[in-house]
Amino acid sequence: MAFLVALAVLGAGDFGSTFFYHVPQHLWFALHLRTHHDRRRSYWDHAVLATDPAVLLDGFLGALPYLAAAALLWHVSWTGALTGLALGQLHVWWRHTRDLGWRTPPFVRAGCGLLGIVVPEDHDGHHRNPATEFGDIFRFYDAPARALLAALAPTRRRRAAPPGVKV
Ligand SMILES: [Zn+2]
Ligand SMILES: [Zn+2]
Repeated sequence: MAFLVALAVLGAGDFGSTFFYHVPQHLWFALHLRTHHDRRRSYWDHAVLATDPAVLLDGFLGALPYLAAAALLWHVSWTGALTGLALGQLHVWWRHTRDLGWRTPPFVRAGCGLLGIVVPEDHDGHHRNPATEFGDIFRFYDAPARALLAALAPTRRRRAAPPGVKV
């Protein structure tokens, strides 16, 4: 049961974070673009090391859906809920390691590919071209997220991004 709860925390958390935070931020807001997509800094730095309040706020808002899923499922299995949150945090660090020059071993890439799990090379794509590679942990959220972005594109705030940040 703990395994299923951990998986549900990650699946529901990623769904909520992608569709109710990440996509709206790319469309209408500036916080995530100013912090997570700040090209003047290494993304390992601002995804993992930075203690700047705006960066932390972006991370916290993105993590809220995972925390909500863990709170809802806490009574089913608190060990599963905590495991899900811990794995989610580890995945944040891992998916940003491409910036450190790390390469995912081919067998890990192949395994994650079969399971639909985002590897650092995939998430690096989101930092290179922020219109692609949505989904924090699961790749199957990317296509519907891009479809939603395209559908809502006419409502986009064009000036949401500061100079130098391509969106
Ligand atoms: Zn990132
Ligand atoms: Zn983004």
